[in-house]
Amino acid sequence: MINIVLFGKPGAGKGTQAEFLKGKYNLTHISTGDVFRYHLKNNTELGKLARIFMDAGDLVPDELTIKMLQDEVERHTDTKGFLFDGFPRTIAQAQALDVFLATKSWEVTATIALEANDEVLIQRLLERGKTSGRIDDQDEEKIRNRYVEYNEKTAPLIEYYSKQNKFYPVNGIGSIAEITERLSTVIDKL
Ligand code: AMP
Repeated sequence: MINIVLFGKPGAGKGTQAEFLKGKYNLTHISTGDVFRYHLKNNTELGKLARIFMDAGDLVPDELTIKMLQDEVERHTDTKGFLFDGFPRTIAQAQALDVFLATKSWEVTATIALEANDEVLIQRLLERGKTSGRIDDQDEEKIRNRYVEYNEKTAPLIEYYSKQNKFYPVNGIGSIAEITERLSTVIDKL
C-alpha cells in the first residue's frame, strides 16, 4: 500500500500529473475538487452546500470535505494505494486523514509538492479559465483569494509533513514529461 498526497498551489499541475501517475503506479486517484465539481453538476445536497464556497474560491468547510473524502476512500478499499490530489488542505484535514487511514492500518507514505511561483500560476489559471468553464478560474480576484486560502490554511501542512519526514518538494516548472519524471524519481525511492 502506498498513499501519496500530491501537494501544491492551485494551478501547480496536480491534476495533470495525477493523470500520468495513477496509471504508472496503479493508484486510485481522488481529486476532491473533481468530486465536488461532480456534486455541483448533479446538484446533490453536498453540491448545494459546497457551491457557495467553491464559486468564491474559498475552501469548503472541513467537516463536509473530510466526510466526502472518507466516503471516496471507502468505495475503493481494494486498491494498491491512493493518490490524493487537493486533499488535505488544512491541518484538521491532515489529522483526520491520519486517523482515518490508521483505522485501516494504512498511512500517508509521502507528500510530494509541485512548486511554482504565484504569478506564473495565476496566469496559468486565467488561461485555463478561458476553456475550463470553471467560475473560480475566470476572475483574478477569486484566484487571488484561493492563494490567500492556500497561504493561511494549506501552507502549514508543509511543516506538518516535514516533521514526519514525509515532505518532498519538486520543481513544478518544466514540460509535463519532465515533471512526471521528477515525481517518479521520488516515488521510485519510497
Ligand atoms: P481544486 O480543483 O483542487 O482547485 O478545488 C476547487 C475548489 O474545491 C477549491 O477552491 C475548494 O473550494 C474546493 N476544495 C477542493 N478540495 C478541497 C479541500 N481539500 N478542502 C476544502 N475545499 C476543497
